[in-house]
Amino acid sequence: MKMTQLFFKTMRETPSDAEIISHQLMLRAGLIRKQAAGIYSFMPLGYRVLKKIEAIIREEMDAAGAQELIMPSLLPAESYRESGRWDAFGDEMFRLKDRNQRDFCLGPTHEEIFTETVRDYARSYRDLPLILYQIQTKYRDEIRPRFGVMRSREFVMKDAYSFDRDDDGLDVSYRAMDKAYRRIFDRLGLDYVVIDADTGTMGGSGSQEFTVKSEAGESEIVQCTECGYAASVEKAQCVAGAKAEAVDSMQPEYVATPNARTIAEVTAFLGCRDTDLAKTILYKADGKPVAAMVRGDREVNEAKLMSYLGCSSLEMADEESVTTITGAEVGFAGPVGLPVRIIADLEIEGSPRLIVGANRTGFHLKHVAPGRDFNAEYADIRIITGTDPCPRCGAALEFGRGIEAGHIFKLGTKYSESMGCIYLDETGTGHPMVMGCYGIGVNRTMAAIIEQHHDENGIIWPMSVAPYQAVIVPVNVLDEKQAEIADNIYSELQSRGVEVLLDDRNERAGVKFKDADLIGIPIRVNVGRKAAEGLVEFKLRHEDKARELPVDMAADVVLEAIKTART
Ligand SMILES: [Zn+2]
Repeated sequence: MKMTQLFFKTMRETPSDAEIISHQLMLRAGLIRKQAAGIYSFMPLGYRVLKKIEAIIREEMDAAGAQELIMPSLLPAESYRESGRWDAFGDEMFRLKDRNQRDFCLGPTHEEIFTETVRDYARSYRDLPLILYQIQTKYRDEIRPRFGVMRSREFVMKDAYSFDRDDDGLDVSYRAMDKAYRRIFDRLGLDYVVIDADTGTMGGSGSQEFTVKSEAGESEIVQCTECGYAASVEKAQCVAGAKAEAVDSMQPEYVATPNARTIAEVTAFLGCRDTDLAKTILYKADGKPVAAMVRGDREVNEAKLMSYLGCSSLEMADEESVTTITGAEVGFAGPVGLPVRIIADLEIEGSPRLIVGANRTGFHLKHVAPGRDFNAEYADIRIITGTDPCPRCGAALEFGRGIEAGHIFKLGTKYSESMGCIYLDETGTGHPMVMGCYGIGVNRTMAAIIEQHHDENGIIWPMSVAPYQAVIVPVNVLDEKQAEIADNIYSELQSRGVEVLLDDRNERAGVKFKDADLIGIPIRVNVGRKAAEGLVEFKLRHEDKARELPVDMAADVVLEAIKTART
């Protein structure tokens, strides 16, 4: 493609509403154009990248035995009513009516549609296993679309669904998808971690997220420095810690702590450490009061607590309820004699003696022994911190951020049961199919690649997804010799199958180099003054230095660089 004909426009200034690098660079390089909040067009250069990412996904999905199809985005409400999600989606679903006032939506995700399709076509155990996928546009009315295509309202997603006879079959499909995902993200040149997205199951295999490491990401993650354990901060497991050694036999004793309600106030007043204290927090779980206990230096992880309780709502108890339950003002709740269910963190069980609220305004109790002075259910209910060890091997953990680009998930029979997706076994007995679902956010993955592959001059595309592999830049197009040599190299590369740009614009060399760097073309060949002596310059985008080459070697060297990058 000659750049005089290429439909593109670059920008020197950083757009003021773009907060993260990938959003800034996609706009500056002219890859996308904003149509409305969270809605973008992909311009020719950007669309080439998107198609390359899709091609890699497609190749690996096909290689894993999945079959591609395409479903509509405009969907009737009935399918979602059947699963109960027509209501559950709430405002996130784009809804509309047809001319006959029938309800439709723009598909936010397609579990229902795949389930009913398979229900209609596959009836026998002989039809299974089955993995279907599509690469298709999804719609979600995000409350806060931002970060460009990272969190947008219309986006391309690869979604796949597996259908198996039983859990063992699902395991096989799930592993095949896991392997395909690793190959996809490797080929895209991404540095990623696969995090366990299950709560409370050690190394759980029911749900994993493929998270691209990036400070621009919205997920907070912890990663072991030794064994590869990785998890979201919200779900990372905390271990019990050391059990108490022999303890003293002191009995609980009231200690006056007037006006000291917070951990900081109590430690300052009593001159103790925050680890000597336990805080008792009252919640309402599905409307019923429960107490959660963590050490003074810890915080309750409400997601873990909800998962442990199996409740669907959890909120802090209001002041009035606290007073009614504890008989004291807020700030003095404690476990001794507390008339509600108490869930205490694993660390509490191992603590020898604790200072806790006395359920009496202005007082705390010291020398309180778990198990002797109060009873609780013990569970991992705290937020992991920098001082926690890896739950798998005990080594130190590192905290970071990441972009969730892919997710694989064992659905089980949730949809097949509610929607009657049944197969008949060898004896003619019906069973619900066991399902898995597997997603990759394609636009988001494109942004994630830029987050990991850029410098101050622009994008540095991995060869596998670059919009063009090489650009030939005649430094002065008005110089006939330069123009001719550049044109020859361009033609030769084209005939040898290279995706190549010729920057034949009558612009200053500096402008052309800046554009090539901003757009992120991996290989650049500069045809300048030395062309008359038979020399051109060869430069890789990710290297600082250019090197000189004889003109007749240029095409071979470019091809070699493409080949090397692919392996
Ligand atoms: Zn570890």
